[in-house]
Amino acid sequence: MIATEPKASIKGGEFLIKETEASQVFIPEEFTEEQQMIAATCREFLEREIWPRLNEIDNAKSPELISSLMDKAGELGLLGTSVPEQYGGFGTNFNTSMLVAETTGAGHSFSVALSAHTGIGTLPIVYYGNEEQKAKYLPKLASGEWKAAYCLTEPDSGSDANSGKTKAILTEDGKHYVLNGQKMWITNGGFADLYIVFAKIEENGQTDKNLSAFIVERTYEGITMNEPEHKMGIKGSDTRQIFFNDVKVPVENLLSERGNGFKIAVNILNIGRIKLGIAAVGG
Ligand SMILES: Cc1cc2nc3c(=O)[nH]c(=O)nc-3n(C[C@H](O)[C@H](O)[C@H](O)COP(=O)(O)OP(=O)(O)OC[C@H]3O[C@@H](n4cnc5c(N)ncnc54)[C@H](O)[C@@H]3O)c2cc1C
Repeated sequence: MIATEPKASIKGGEFLIKETEASQVFIPEEFTEEQQMIAATCREFLEREIWPRLNEIDNAKSPELISSLMDKAGELGLLGTSVPEQYGGFGTNFNTSMLVAETTGAGHSFSVALSAHTGIGTLPIVYYGNEEQKAKYLPKLASGEWKAAYCLTEPDSGSDANSGKTKAILTEDGKHYVLNGQKMWITNGGFADLYIVFAKIEENGQTDKNLSAFIVERTYEGITMNEPEHKMGIKGSDTRQIFFNDVKVPVENLLSERGNGFKIAVNILNIGRIKLGIAAVGG
C-alpha cells in the first residue's frame, strides 16, 4: 500500500471559493518516487504495446487484440492498482490510481477498455462485494485473467438509469435469480468474462423501485450479444448490445443488498467520471 499523508480535505474546486492553505492542495510534485515509477511503467507499456499498434487496434475485426493487450497490462500489474493487496492487487491510494488513469489516458481507444475493466467493471466488487465475492473474483480481475464489463444502459434507459427494464426473479427453490433484459453500449462486452448487471427484482408481480446489482459470469447460459457497434471514435474499444435470456444467476452473486444497485451504479460512475476527466487530460 502506498501511503500519502492524509490532508485536511478540501473538496473539488473548493480552493477557488474558500480560504485555503497551499499545503492543503495536492500538487504533482508531491508524487513519491514509487508513484512516479508506476506512472513510468504505464508510459513504457503504451510506448511498447499500444502506440505502435494504433491503426491495428482501431481496425481490428475482433476483440481478441484488445483482450490480449489487456493480458499484457495485467502481467505488468496495471489492472490491479485499485484492488486491495489481499486480493492480488496493489491497493494503491486514490492519488496513485488517478496518476495511472492520467498516464494510461494517452492510450487512445485502448484506454477506454482498460478503464472500463479497472473502473466500472472491477470497482463494484471492490467497494460493495462481500468477502466471498471479493476472494472469488478480485484476484482474477486484478491479474487480467478475467476481464470485466458494466451493464447499466438499456435502449430506453440511459441518463435515467434507474428506469431500466431488466428483471430478476427469484426461482422457487430460492437458489437463483433469473435475469431477462437487454443492455446496450457495453464496453468490453465482446470479451468480458464477468458482467456487473443492473436489474430490478420482481416479486409477486411487483417490481422494485430501485435497481439491484448482480455479478454475472459469461459462462452462465442465456447470454447473447450483437456485433460490435461501428462508432465514430474510440473504434478499438468493443461496444455491444448484450441480451440476458433466462440467465440463472446464483443468489450469492447479488452484490450488496436488494435495491442497492442504483446507489452502486451512480457511486461507481462518480469515480469513473473523475477518472475520465484526468484520462482526457493525459490524452
Ligand atoms: C462509447 C460508449 C461506451 C459506453 N459504455 C457503457 C458501458 O460500458 N456500460 C453502460 O452501462 N453504458 C455505457 N454507455 C452508455 C452511456 O452510459 C449512455 O450513453 C449514457 O448514460 C447516456 O444515455 P443515452 O445514450 O441513452 O442518452 P440519453 O439519456 O437519451 O440522453 C440524450 C441527451 O439528452 C440529454 N438529457 C437526458 N436527460 C435529460 C434531462 N432530464 N434533461 C435535459 N437533458 C437530458 C443528455 O444530456 C443527452 O445529451 C456507453 C456509451 C458510449 C457512447
